Amino acid sequence: MYTDKNGNRWYRGNLHTHTTVSDGVKTPEETKAIYRSLGYDFIALTDHWEFGEGSDNDESGLVVLSGIEYNFGGSDMLTGVFHIVGIGMDTVPNIERTDDTQTAIDRISECGGLPILAHPAWSMNTYDKIMPLNGVFATEIYNSVSDLPFNCRPYSGIVIDDLALRGYTLPLLATDDTHFHKGEVGKGYIMVNLGDKPLNRENLMAALREGKFIATQGPIFTCKREGDEIVVTCETGAARVTFFTGHPYEKFRSTVAEGEPIYEARFKITKGTVFVRAEICDAEGKLGFANVIFE
Ligand SMILES: [Zn+2]
Ligand SMILES: [Zn+2]
Repeated sequence: MYTDKNGNRWYRGNLHTHTTVSDGVKTPEETKAIYRSLGYDFIALTDHWEFGEGSDNDESGLVVLSGIEYNFGGSDMLTGVFHIVGIGMDTVPNIERTDDTQTAIDRISECGGLPILAHPAWSMNTYDKIMPLNGVFATEIYNSVSDLPFNCRPYSGIVIDDLALRGYTLPLLATDDTHFHKGEVGKGYIMVNLGDKPLNRENLMAALREGKFIATQGPIFTCKREGDEIVVTCETGAARVTFFTGHPYEKFRSTVAEGEPIYEARFKITKGTVFVRAEICDAEGKLGFANVIFE
Protein backbone atom coordinates (compact mmCIF):
# COMPACT_ATOMS: atom_id res chain seq x y z
CA MET A 1 0.00 0.00 0.00
CA TYR A 2 1.18 3.47 -0.90
CA THR A 3 -0.27 6.70 0.48
CA ASP A 4 0.12 9.64 -1.89
CA LYS A 5 0.60 13.27 -0.91
CA ASN A 6 -3.16 13.85 -1.01
CA GLY A 7 -3.76 11.00 1.42
CA ASN A 8 -5.16 8.57 -1.17
CA ARG A 9 -4.31 4.94 -0.49
CA TRP A 10 -3.09 2.89 -3.48
CA TYR A 11 -3.24 -0.91 -3.15
CA ARG A 12 -0.92 -3.24 -5.05
CA GLY A 13 -2.17 -6.37 -6.78
CA ASN A 14 -1.55 -9.04 -9.39
CA LEU A 15 -4.51 -9.95 -11.62
CA HIS A 16 -2.91 -12.86 -13.50
CA THR A 17 -1.57 -15.79 -11.49
CA HIS A 18 -1.23 -19.55 -12.02
CA THR A 19 -0.78 -22.21 -9.35
CA THR A 20 -0.56 -26.02 -9.16
CA VAL A 21 -4.31 -26.00 -9.86
CA SER A 22 -3.21 -25.63 -13.51
CA ASP A 23 0.38 -25.27 -14.76
CA GLY A 24 1.94 -23.15 -12.00
CA VAL A 25 4.71 -24.50 -9.79
CA LYS A 26 3.50 -23.35 -6.33
CA THR A 27 0.29 -24.21 -4.54
CA PRO A 28 -2.36 -21.50 -4.10
CA GLU A 29 -1.33 -21.11 -0.44
CA GLU A 30 2.39 -20.82 -1.29
CA THR A 31 1.60 -18.36 -4.08
CA LYS A 32 -0.46 -16.08 -1.86
CA ALA A 33 2.13 -16.20 0.93
CA ILE A 34 4.90 -15.18 -1.50
CA TYR A 35 2.90 -12.23 -2.83
CA ARG A 36 1.98 -11.14 0.68
CA SER A 37 5.66 -11.21 1.65
CA LEU A 38 6.42 -8.96 -1.35
CA GLY A 39 4.02 -6.32 -0.02
CA TYR A 40 1.04 -7.05 -2.24
CA ASP A 41 -2.47 -6.26 -0.98
CA PHE A 42 -4.62 -8.31 -3.34
CA ILE A 43 -4.41 -11.06 -5.93
CA ALA A 44 -6.53 -13.07 -8.36
CA LEU A 45 -5.70 -16.74 -8.96
CA THR A 46 -6.41 -17.22 -12.66
CA ASP A 47 -5.63 -20.85 -13.42
CA HIS A 48 -6.35 -22.11 -16.93
CA TRP A 49 -10.01 -23.16 -17.13
CA GLU A 50 -10.13 -23.50 -13.31
CA PHE A 51 -12.10 -21.01 -11.22
CA GLY A 52 -10.23 -19.39 -8.32
CA GLU A 53 -12.61 -18.34 -5.54
CA GLY A 54 -12.57 -14.82 -4.10
CA SER A 55 -12.33 -13.88 -0.42
CA ASP A 56 -12.16 -10.80 1.77
CA ASN A 57 -10.81 -12.83 4.69
CA ASP A 58 -8.15 -15.07 3.22
CA GLU A 59 -5.64 -16.57 5.66
CA SER A 60 -2.78 -15.07 3.62
CA GLY A 61 -3.87 -11.55 4.53
CA LEU A 62 -4.46 -10.72 0.86
CA VAL A 63 -7.84 -9.79 -0.52
CA VAL A 64 -8.52 -12.39 -3.20
CA LEU A 65 -10.57 -11.58 -6.30
CA SER A 66 -12.08 -14.56 -8.09
CA GLY A 67 -10.30 -15.36 -11.35
CA ILE A 68 -9.81 -17.69 -14.30
CA GLU A 69 -8.02 -17.72 -17.68
CA TYR A 70 -9.52 -19.10 -20.89
CA ASN A 71 -7.66 -19.72 -24.12
CA PHE A 72 -9.07 -20.03 -27.61
CA GLY A 73 -7.58 -20.76 -31.01
CA GLY A 74 -5.14 -23.52 -30.10
CA SER A 75 -1.72 -22.52 -31.36
CA ASP A 76 -2.63 -21.06 -34.76
CA MET A 77 -1.49 -17.48 -34.37
CA LEU A 78 -2.43 -16.60 -37.95
CA THR A 79 -6.14 -17.21 -37.45
CA GLY A 80 -5.97 -15.89 -33.89
CA VAL A 81 -4.98 -17.08 -30.42
CA PHE A 82 -6.82 -15.31 -27.61
CA HIS A 83 -6.24 -15.62 -23.89
CA ILE A 84 -8.99 -14.01 -21.84
CA VAL A 85 -8.62 -13.54 -18.09
CA GLY A 86 -11.78 -13.07 -16.02
CA ILE A 87 -11.64 -11.22 -12.70
CA GLY A 88 -14.19 -10.74 -9.93
CA MET A 89 -17.01 -13.01 -11.12
CA ASP A 90 -19.75 -13.74 -8.56
CA THR A 91 -20.43 -17.16 -10.07
CA VAL A 92 -18.50 -19.58 -12.28
CA PRO A 93 -19.02 -18.64 -15.97
CA ASN A 94 -20.45 -21.42 -18.11
CA ILE A 95 -17.80 -21.50 -20.84
CA GLU A 96 -16.72 -24.55 -22.86
CA ARG A 97 -13.54 -25.06 -24.85
CA THR A 98 -15.70 -25.22 -27.97
CA ASP A 99 -17.02 -21.69 -27.32
CA ASP A 100 -15.41 -18.69 -28.94
CA THR A 101 -13.62 -15.66 -27.51
CA GLN A 102 -16.64 -13.33 -27.69
CA THR A 103 -18.80 -15.84 -25.84
CA ALA A 104 -16.24 -16.00 -23.03
CA ILE A 105 -16.13 -12.20 -22.77
CA ASP A 106 -19.94 -12.03 -22.63
CA ARG A 107 -20.28 -14.79 -20.00
CA ILE A 108 -17.57 -13.29 -17.75
CA SER A 109 -19.47 -9.99 -17.82
CA GLU A 110 -22.81 -11.72 -17.17
CA CYS A 111 -21.28 -13.25 -14.05
CA GLY A 112 -20.29 -9.80 -12.76
CA GLY A 113 -16.65 -10.07 -13.81
CA LEU A 114 -14.17 -8.08 -15.86
CA PRO A 115 -12.88 -9.70 -19.09
CA ILE A 116 -9.22 -8.88 -19.77
CA LEU A 117 -7.24 -9.38 -22.97
CA ALA A 118 -4.05 -11.10 -21.83
CA HIS A 119 -0.62 -10.62 -23.43
CA PRO A 120 -1.72 -9.47 -26.93
CA ALA A 121 1.88 -9.20 -28.18
CA TRP A 122 2.74 -12.73 -27.03
CA SER A 123 -0.43 -13.98 -28.78
CA MET A 124 0.40 -11.81 -31.84
CA ASN A 125 -3.09 -10.29 -31.66
CA THR A 126 -3.54 -7.71 -34.38
CA TYR A 127 -5.97 -4.76 -34.55
CA ASP A 128 -8.29 -6.50 -37.01
CA LYS A 129 -8.82 -9.35 -34.56
CA ILE A 130 -8.98 -7.24 -31.37
CA MET A 131 -11.27 -4.42 -32.50
CA PRO A 132 -14.31 -6.62 -33.33
CA LEU A 133 -14.36 -7.97 -29.75
CA ASN A 134 -17.07 -6.28 -27.65
CA GLY A 135 -16.98 -5.71 -23.91
CA VAL A 136 -13.30 -6.21 -23.13
CA PHE A 137 -12.54 -4.36 -19.88
CA ALA A 138 -8.79 -3.86 -20.28
CA THR A 139 -5.66 -5.23 -21.89
CA GLU A 140 -2.28 -6.14 -20.55
CA ILE A 141 0.53 -3.95 -21.85
CA TYR A 142 3.17 -5.78 -19.81
CA ASN A 143 3.18 -9.48 -18.88
CA SER A 144 6.27 -10.59 -17.02
CA VAL A 145 6.17 -14.31 -17.90
CA SER A 146 6.19 -13.31 -21.56
CA ASP A 147 9.62 -11.80 -20.83
CA LEU A 148 12.99 -13.47 -21.22
CA PRO A 149 14.22 -16.04 -20.36
CA PHE A 150 11.01 -18.05 -20.52
CA ASN A 151 9.42 -16.23 -23.44
CA CYS A 152 10.05 -13.40 -25.87
CA ARG A 153 7.28 -10.78 -26.12
CA PRO A 154 6.57 -9.23 -22.71
CA TYR A 155 5.51 -5.83 -23.94
CA SER A 156 2.39 -5.03 -25.97
CA GLY A 157 3.04 -1.32 -26.52
CA ILE A 158 3.22 -1.72 -30.29
CA VAL A 159 -0.19 -3.43 -30.32
CA ILE A 160 -1.68 -0.70 -28.10
CA ASP A 161 -0.26 2.03 -30.36
CA ASP A 162 -1.50 0.33 -33.52
CA LEU A 163 -5.00 0.22 -32.00
CA ALA A 164 -4.72 3.85 -30.88
CA LEU A 165 -3.82 4.93 -34.43
CA ARG A 166 -7.22 3.53 -35.41
CA GLY A 167 -9.03 5.39 -32.63
CA TYR A 168 -9.43 2.37 -30.34
CA THR A 169 -8.03 1.84 -26.89
CA LEU A 170 -8.51 -0.09 -23.65
CA PRO A 171 -7.29 0.62 -20.11
CA LEU A 172 -3.81 -0.84 -19.58
CA LEU A 173 -2.66 -3.45 -17.06
CA ALA A 174 0.69 -4.86 -16.01
CA THR A 175 0.71 -8.39 -14.60
CA ASP A 176 3.07 -11.22 -13.72
CA ASP A 177 1.16 -14.13 -15.32
CA THR A 178 2.91 -15.99 -12.54
CA HIS A 179 3.89 -19.62 -13.01
CA PHE A 180 7.11 -19.42 -10.93
CA HIS A 181 9.05 -20.43 -14.04
CA LYS A 182 11.95 -18.09 -13.58
CA GLY A 183 12.15 -14.55 -12.26
CA GLU A 184 8.74 -13.26 -13.32
CA VAL A 185 7.36 -12.62 -9.84
CA GLY A 186 6.76 -9.03 -8.73
CA LYS A 187 7.73 -7.41 -12.05
CA GLY A 188 4.38 -6.06 -13.25
CA TYR A 189 1.33 -5.09 -11.23
CA ILE A 190 -1.47 -2.59 -10.84
CA MET A 191 -1.98 -0.01 -8.10
CA VAL A 192 -5.64 0.73 -7.33
CA ASN A 193 -6.56 4.07 -5.79
CA LEU A 194 -9.21 3.44 -3.12
CA GLY A 195 -8.97 6.96 -1.66
CA ASP A 196 -9.94 6.56 1.99
CA LYS A 197 -12.12 3.47 1.44
CA PRO A 198 -11.22 0.15 3.07
CA LEU A 199 -9.63 -2.62 1.02
CA ASN A 200 -12.16 -5.29 0.09
CA ARG A 201 -13.46 -6.95 -3.06
CA GLU A 202 -16.45 -4.64 -3.46
CA ASN A 203 -14.36 -1.47 -3.29
CA LEU A 204 -11.62 -2.92 -5.51
CA MET A 205 -14.11 -3.92 -8.22
CA ALA A 206 -15.81 -0.50 -8.07
CA ALA A 207 -12.46 1.31 -8.37
CA LEU A 208 -11.41 -0.92 -11.27
CA ARG A 209 -14.67 -0.19 -13.10
CA GLU A 210 -14.13 3.53 -12.50
CA GLY A 211 -10.62 3.32 -13.95
CA LYS A 212 -8.91 4.29 -10.70
CA PHE A 213 -5.77 2.24 -11.27
CA ILE A 214 -2.39 2.37 -12.95
CA ALA A 215 -0.20 -0.28 -14.61
CA THR A 216 3.33 -0.17 -13.29
CA GLN A 217 6.57 -1.88 -12.37
CA GLY A 218 7.25 0.73 -9.67
CA PRO A 219 6.54 4.40 -10.49
CA ILE A 220 3.38 5.97 -9.02
CA PHE A 221 2.07 8.54 -11.46
CA THR A 222 -0.88 10.40 -12.93
CA CYS A 223 -1.38 11.33 -16.58
CA LYS A 224 -4.11 13.68 -17.76
CA ARG A 225 -4.96 16.30 -20.32
CA GLU A 226 -4.90 20.01 -19.48
CA GLY A 227 -5.97 22.05 -22.52
CA ASP A 228 -3.64 21.12 -25.35
CA GLU A 229 -1.07 19.56 -23.02
CA ILE A 230 -0.65 16.08 -21.56
CA VAL A 231 0.62 16.40 -18.01
CA VAL A 232 2.41 13.56 -16.25
CA THR A 233 3.14 13.78 -12.55
CA CYS A 234 5.30 11.25 -10.73
CA GLU A 235 5.67 11.87 -7.04
CA THR A 236 7.99 8.86 -6.70
CA GLY A 237 10.37 10.62 -9.15
CA ALA A 238 11.29 9.64 -12.71
CA ALA A 239 14.53 9.42 -14.64
CA ARG A 240 12.73 9.72 -17.98
CA VAL A 241 9.22 10.32 -19.25
CA THR A 242 8.54 9.28 -22.84
CA PHE A 243 5.51 10.23 -24.92
CA PHE A 244 4.46 7.79 -27.63
CA THR A 245 2.22 9.33 -30.28
CA GLY A 246 0.73 8.65 -33.69
CA HIS A 247 3.24 10.92 -35.36
CA PRO A 248 6.59 9.54 -36.57
CA TYR A 249 8.52 12.66 -35.64
CA GLU A 250 8.14 14.51 -32.35
CA LYS A 251 10.42 17.28 -31.16
CA PHE A 252 10.14 16.63 -27.44
CA ARG A 253 9.32 12.94 -27.19
CA SER A 254 11.33 12.30 -24.04
CA THR A 255 11.95 14.37 -20.94
CA VAL A 256 15.16 13.16 -19.32
CA ALA A 257 16.18 14.03 -15.78
CA GLU A 258 19.30 16.08 -15.40
CA GLY A 259 20.41 15.73 -11.79
CA GLU A 260 17.10 16.05 -9.94
CA PRO A 261 14.38 13.44 -10.64
CA ILE A 262 11.42 14.52 -12.77
CA TYR A 263 8.23 15.15 -10.84
CA GLU A 264 6.25 16.63 -13.73
CA ALA A 265 6.55 16.37 -17.52
CA ARG A 266 4.41 18.06 -20.18
CA PHE A 267 3.74 17.27 -23.82
CA LYS A 268 2.04 19.69 -26.18
CA ILE A 269 -0.48 18.15 -28.57
CA THR A 270 -0.17 19.41 -32.14
CA LYS A 271 -2.00 18.53 -35.34
CA GLY A 272 -1.16 14.98 -36.31
CA THR A 273 -0.38 13.77 -32.78
CA VAL A 274 -3.46 11.47 -33.04
CA PHE A 275 -2.86 10.01 -29.56
CA VAL A 276 -0.47 10.28 -26.64
CA ARG A 277 0.67 7.42 -24.40
CA ALA A 278 3.22 8.14 -21.69
CA GLU A 279 5.73 5.80 -20.08
CA ILE A 280 7.43 6.80 -16.87
CA CYS A 281 10.84 5.26 -16.18
CA ASP A 282 12.42 5.47 -12.73
CA ALA A 283 16.11 5.44 -11.81
CA GLU A 284 16.09 1.61 -11.63
CA GLY A 285 14.64 1.30 -15.15
CA LYS A 286 11.19 0.29 -13.90
CA LEU A 287 8.32 1.54 -16.05
CA GLY A 288 4.88 2.98 -15.41
CA PHE A 289 2.40 2.71 -18.29
CA ALA A 290 -0.16 5.51 -18.67
CA ASN A 291 -3.36 4.97 -20.64
CA VAL A 292 -3.81 6.33 -24.16
CA ILE A 293 -5.24 9.84 -24.47
CA PHE A 294 -6.59 10.85 -27.87
CA GLU A 295 -5.81 14.11 -29.66
ZN1 LIG B 1 -2.20 -16.73 -21.25
ZN1 LIG C 1 -1.73 -16.89 -17.84
